[in-house]
Amino acid sequence: MFSPGGIISYLDMCKEEGVNLQRGMNFRLRNNFSVILMSLRPGAPYADRVEDGGKTLIYEGHDIPQTKGAPNPKTVDQPMHNPGGTYTQNGLFFDAAGRYKRGRTDPEFVRVYEKIRSGIWAYNGLFQLVDAWQEASNTRQVFKFKLEMIEDASGQVATKSTLEHNRVIPTSVKLEVWKRDKGRCVQCGSADNLHFDHIIPYTLGGSSLVSENIQLLCARHNIAKKDKIE
Ligand SMILES: [Zn+2]
Repeated sequence: MFSPGGIISYLDMCKEEGVNLQRGMNFRLRNNFSVILMSLRPGAPYADRVEDGGKTLIYEGHDIPQTKGAPNPKTVDQPMHNPGGTYTQNGLFFDAAGRYKRGRTDPEFVRVYEKIRSGIWAYNGLFQLVDAWQEASNTRQVFKFKLEMIEDASGQVATKSTLEHNRVIPTSVKLEVWKRDKGRCVQCGSADNLHFDHIIPYTLGGSSLVSENIQLLCARHNIAKKDKIE
């Protein structure tokens, strides 16, 4: 299993989730976890965003598929149902958020991955789906899903105190660090099993928000560093 900040290939991500991930929203895959793929890179097709200093994600629902002769998906309301009447992925996540809000079920657990560049993804952690709504965007209705982080840096479901410091590293920082460190461990130059490492850990007050405090480390050097601090 990955821990938050882990950098993985597309194939590793698919292997971990047990399916060939083709779409952004994936309701309940293996072990009942849902999976969301996000991209906050410039020009990304959906208006996903990070709020609350990195503890909350607002994820935009998905458009109708692009088909020849049909209207531009960006001009059509995002659909709740498929033509046959079953829920789309928007509908499945929306329904789950609604049942949670009405106190019927526990929140949906959602693992969130973020695209860094072609074939390279970062694991942002485990989130819970706490709210969903529809809102106007230009001339149409889109879905919004609110996800709260619940996993701490060690990959455990966080307690209140460990979550206090936990947050998603902003995309701009991830991209800057990846470029600066040239996609390699700063200690040994390895390009395998990389991780966005906090130079000063956030439990000791180190920031997630500036590239000066983030570096790339391979798994071996990440573990060696953790042992030293503990
Ligand atoms: Zn290394």
